[in-house]
Amino acid sequence: STPSERYEYQAEVSRLMDLIVNSLYSNKEVFLRELISNASDALDKLRFLGVTEPELLKDAVDFDIRIQADKDNGVITITDTGIGMTRQELVDCLGTIAQSGTAKFLKALKDSKDAAGDNNLIGQFGVGFYSAFLVSDKVTVSTKSPKSDKQYVWEGEANASSYTIREETDPEKLIPRGTRLTLHLKRDDKGFAHPERIEKLVKNYSQFVSFPIYTWQEKGYTKEVEVDEDPAEAKKDEEDGKTEKKKKTKTVVERYWDWELINETQPIWLRNPKEVTKEDYNEFYKKTFNEYLEPLASSHFTTEGEVEFRSILYVPAFAPTGKDDIINPKTKNIRLYVKRVFISDDFDGELFPRYLSFVKGVVDSNDLPLNVSREILQESRVVRIMRKRLVRKAFDMILGISMSDNREDYGKFWENFGKHLKLGCIEDRENHKRIAPLLRFFSSQSEEELISLDEYVENMKPDQKDIYYIAADSVNSAKNTPFLERLAEKDLEVLFLVDPIDEVAIQNLKSYKEKNFVDISKEDLDLGDKNEEREKEMKQEFGQTCDWIKKHLGDKVASVQISNRLSSSPCVLVSGKFGWSANMERLMKAQSM
Ligand code: ADP
Ligand code: MG
Repeated sequence: STPSERYEYQAEVSRLMDLIVNSLYSNKEVFLRELISNASDALDKLRFLGVTEPELLKDAVDFDIRIQADKDNGVITITDTGIGMTRQELVDCLGTIAQSGTAKFLKALKDSKDAAGDNNLIGQFGVGFYSAFLVSDKVTVSTKSPKSDKQYVWEGEANASSYTIREETDPEKLIPRGTRLTLHLKRDDKGFAHPERIEKLVKNYSQFVSFPIYTWQEKGYTKEVEVDEDPAEAKKDEEDGKTEKKKKTKTVVERYWDWELINETQPIWLRNPKEVTKEDYNEFYKKTFNEYLEPLASSHFTTEGEVEFRSILYVPAFAPTGKDDIINPKTKNIRLYVKRVFISDDFDGELFPRYLSFVKGVVDSNDLPLNVSREILQESRVVRIMRKRLVRKAFDMILGISMSDNREDYGKFWENFGKHLKLGCIEDRENHKRIAPLLRFFSSQSEEELISLDEYVENMKPDQKDIYYIAADSVNSAKNTPFLERLAEKDLEVLFLVDPIDEVAIQNLKSYKEKNFVDISKEDLDLGDKNEEREKEMKQEFGQTCDWIKKHLGDKVASVQISNRLSSSPCVLVSGKFGWSANMERLMKAQSM
């Protein structure tokens, strides 16, 4: 056999392994989920590449995952027929960490230091290949890439700083394609090497894997066998004079071992929605997107006609942690399949506009080519139609939350994704009609509870034409502005725009149900109660005072005018009709610093 070569792990890998072992000791069983998910990824990759490079599929073996548990020796093997790894890939993938799942894990671990080290939470993250060492003393990865004509064996031990790679030379161990992992379990973890235990874990963690998973199980069938009569009885029969020999049969169980399919491979989105429960949808969501909280809403639909596709969409219960004022469109939140083949989750606005990038889900289409590229996605008419439908369904789903009896749900939604919708007001004119009813604001008559624009309109005075708003940096400063005085006196409700993005969003909407949005701090505010006689009198009486004030303030103000808009304050600073509002000015100033 060829000698094995020894390699050192990248420093971070050793640290990661320590972290995994120390933080997940009470949740060891996740190792199986991780290794099955890698097997499933490897099968996905091969199926995807095989579309454009059919020579990769020249070994006609089925796409599947097989798990064998040897309880006598405490060994588990997991074999997939996926893409496998070349020698170089073994070094790159299993000796360094550049991988998404592990990076996410490291970050969660860091964040959770503040949250009193929540081990349960960490258990929800993809911790990747190294989780094999949670339960194993030694791990062997024997792998054959269709790109290489050789099969290689990677071997690593728990608590070691290096691993080895050698060529597989034992003909008994050669596989046509894919990867076989052999876990030599630690003494205390040998209990995992039972087919029933494996089956239970697969059902629990990996029920939505879309490739068949088999386990090697002992089975039995019953058969009738002929047996000789009990000698004592035979003797008695003889004494009784019964000469004819009685034939006796007995039922025995014949034991044998065979592969047993243990998961349902029909993807959930292809099932009839009537037969799928809410729990199924939520489980699928949690497993697919590594989430630990249930979604706020889900929607399963099929569209027919011009373009056919099936989809399940979800509204998450939380915005991803991190910088919450940055909306990242590259979320990997939508998984695109073409004819059940996973194509990509790497989108940048092709299927959802950036402000809706928080929506998660799967989309499966029969109308796209399997080798669909980013360029095709961006230019495809099919994709444009899909996007339109998806966006509509997403809005239906959000509207559903807003109309649910449970007001708390929409409160949660708004807290997490309100900003996104406001961004939609700015970026998606076409959907203003869908976004506007979903917006929420505080107001002069509802300082503690958010109201919708519909609620505002319902509360309008019979002769009120406009929707009034004031932008400020908090509810408190909004309610103390002198601009409110006259409106309060007339019992007119005023929306408080207290989020920096609110004002721009409202200005983009311009109107709601044919009622214009009017900033009560602008100079030409008309409350429909002009008294021209009295204004003339006032102008005469105070004209000179105004001139005098203007002279003293000089360039600091544009003009000084008599106004009817105050009731108790003597004067107020207002913005010009075409100028920035005071709030905008504050924002611009803050940004230029
Ligand atoms: P992740 O799955 O998030 O990429 P892992 O630590 O689970 O991180 O796996 C690291 C890498 O090792 C994978 O990205 C993949 O390239 C490779 N790998 C792991 N298991 C397999 C497998 N069964 N077949 C082929 N490649 C694999
Ligand atoms: Mg993985």
